[in-house]
Amino acid sequence: MPDALPDTDWSESATASEDDGRYRSIFENAVEGIYQTTVTGSYLRVNPALARMYGYQGPAQLIAGLTDIAKQLYVDSQRREDFARAMARDGVIKDFEAQIYRHDGSVIWIEENARCVRDHAGHILYYEGMVTDISARKAAEEQIRLLATVFDSVSDGILVIDRALTICAVNPAFTRITGLRRQDLIGQAPRLSAPGFEERGLIERICALADDTGHWRGELGYVRPEYQPFAAWVSVTTVRNPDGRTEYFVLACSDITDRKQQEDRIRYQANFDALTNLPNRRFLHEQLDQAIRLAAPGQKRLAVAFLDLDRFKQINDSLGHRAGDTLLKRVARRLRNASRATDIVGRYGGDEFVMIFPNIDDRFSGSFLAEKLLYSFSDPFQLPERELFCTPSIGIAFYPDHADTADGLIRCADLAMYHSKRASPRHYTLFSQEMLQQSSRRLDLEHDLRHAIQRDEFVMHYQPKYDLETERIVGAEGLVRWMHPSGVLISPAEFIPIAEETGLIAQLGQLTLRKVCQQAQAWRQAGLLLDGIAVNLSPREFHDANIVQLVRTVLDNTGLPPDFLELELTEGAMVVDVDHAVDTLRRLKGLGVRLAIDDFGTGYSSLAYLKRFPIDTLKIDRSFVRDVATNATDTAIIDTIIGLASSLGFSVVAEGVETIAQALVLRERNCRYAQGYLICRPLPTDAFAEHVRDAEHHPKPLLPGRPVAGKS
Ligand code: C2E
Ligand code: MG
Ligand code: MG
Repeated sequence: MPDALPDTDWSESATASEDDGRYRSIFENAVEGIYQTTVTGSYLRVNPALARMYGYQGPAQLIAGLTDIAKQLYVDSQRREDFARAMARDGVIKDFEAQIYRHDGSVIWIEENARCVRDHAGHILYYEGMVTDISARKAAEEQIRLLATVFDSVSDGILVIDRALTICAVNPAFTRITGLRRQDLIGQAPRLSAPGFEERGLIERICALADDTGHWRGELGYVRPEYQPFAAWVSVTTVRNPDGRTEYFVLACSDITDRKQQEDRIRYQANFDALTNLPNRRFLHEQLDQAIRLAAPGQKRLAVAFLDLDRFKQINDSLGHRAGDTLLKRVARRLRNASRATDIVGRYGGDEFVMIFPNIDDRFSGSFLAEKLLYSFSDPFQLPERELFCTPSIGIAFYPDHADTADGLIRCADLAMYHSKRASPRHYTLFSQEMLQQSSRRLDLEHDLRHAIQRDEFVMHYQPKYDLETERIVGAEGLVRWMHPSGVLISPAEFIPIAEETGLIAQLGQLTLRKVCQQAQAWRQAGLLLDGIAVNLSPREFHDANIVQLVRTVLDNTGLPPDFLELELTEGAMVVDVDHAVDTLRRLKGLGVRLAIDDFGTGYSSLAYLKRFPIDTLKIDRSFVRDVATNATDTAIIDTIIGLASSLGFSVVAEGVETIAQALVLRERNCRYAQGYLICRPLPTDAFAEHVRDAEHHPKPLLPGRPVAGKS
């Protein structure tokens, strides 16, 4: 303990001079804590502020209670040693920070400034110093450190922008997202971009808006010339001083480029067909709506073409889906090439395509378009599996003539397409109003057809096959008719295609085959003089995996000799997959039945294929027969067919012979057989049998110029 105190003696027992009084007042009333302690760590004097700071009622209580500073005061007792060492070395200590226990055990941060007071010999008499409670500052610093860590480690990019709109802070995420360097940003104005905005002035506008409301949000890009553009979701918040004046803008942005790309992808998927990359049905409707809106004010016309590929199902079934997909892609490309940039080509679904032609002048250009489209199908398609021809059926409708909505127009074009499909292959049809009535009829038929099969509402009619040489009936073709409950007899031309499309053809085919074979066998047993009976197989029946088995079973069950049955097939059923067709034909042939190609000349089969088909008969389509007596070209075609057939050993039947002139030309050209209204219309079963018997017993010469031959 020092025995003498220096001049500035603030001890409570100091003599009260005037100066002393003033110093005492400072000591007593200072907001900082002031103390004197011994080197060994007990208090000599403290002011009230220090006592308050340390949680004591007054200096006396503090001095009495706090007798070992190292142990009782410092949270880390090591701090007292640090303090003492610095004092011994320097004699003063500045800004010495430490955590201390208050009287109640709570912990605060203090900062001390102190010095050694020495005697004349230089021995330390005591320490005296000032203490400030820096807990609040420490907490703030801690907070700042925390925020700085957040600033540095968040994934969102952050820019702090001052009132002059220059960047004063940037976090690492921002540089990472934008690819810009910190040094290129600090002190510069942010360069934001947004679709539809000039880059210049954009940041000003955004900050002005944020300044008004305290906040702004939106989607922006950051301009970074040498990098990929990126899209960001940006929010700008103002930082205001206590007066409410904005001092900073904090711009936070997250990179939404991926999300945007994903959105674009989703939008693409929603609007485009993945296989062909053409607009899909949904998007087509949208585009057509828009085209109509654009055409409406000037009442401009626009055309919609609906295309459906012929025989696509067969191609798919026989060559596989991969080939089908490839074909669709090739078709898409050709349609695209056949159209102008302003036209819209889309895939409507399956093998259906829709094309929209804005600004069509007159009706002629509709036909012209169709011809152009058809032309683009004139070359064969090269598939890895093989080369094949594929044609579309096309329907065309016009705005505003036929409908004034997208739905309406597409429906009209679809109906027109449907008509081309029914009427003739490789054709197009322009829409007409009657088609609407027919279409609802079709739906009714489709519905009724299912019941018709269960209830067997079908009857067979038979049309004679006539030998032009001997002028005798030699056979018959069975033609199915639907006896609709309404009492109307419906033509197969109308319901067979529906049966094909709905898959009902399998049951229907089985039904007719059985009926025809039963009837033929009955007639044979009754002694009706016929060489054979023909029955038609539609393409889908022909492609049925069970067709050979079915024919065999029906023959077995009815007992009909196989060579009495002739199956008529169209070329279309066979050309899609020639190898497969040849195989099926051979197996059918193996049963002993006869095979004919029906409607010959209308299909696509190349004559080269014909050699490979194990068939017996060619039936010349009636479209060639019609003008055979008047049109030299048709006569030449028939000559060619007959010549070819005879060289391949096929017999020839002319279909649809209606006039004596036709029959005479055909006979002259060595067409041996004919069917047609001239000879006889298809007749119901009994009427047919009657007719044959009558012809047998009372032969009437049909054609002039040759004597009626006897039975051959
Ligand atoms: P198709 O096999 O070519 O039959 C000939 C069609 O021409 C028959 O029409 C027949 O009535 C008609 N016809 C015959 N002579 C003449 C004529 O001198 N002038 C004209 N204008 N037409 C004539 P139908 O009976 O309406 O049959 C149409 C088509 O329906 C048939 O064409 C055939 O492809 C199909 N079909 C008919 N019956 C069946 C069947 O039982 N099964 C299958 N799968 N298809 C059938
Ligand atoms: Mg036929
Ligand atoms: Mg025919």
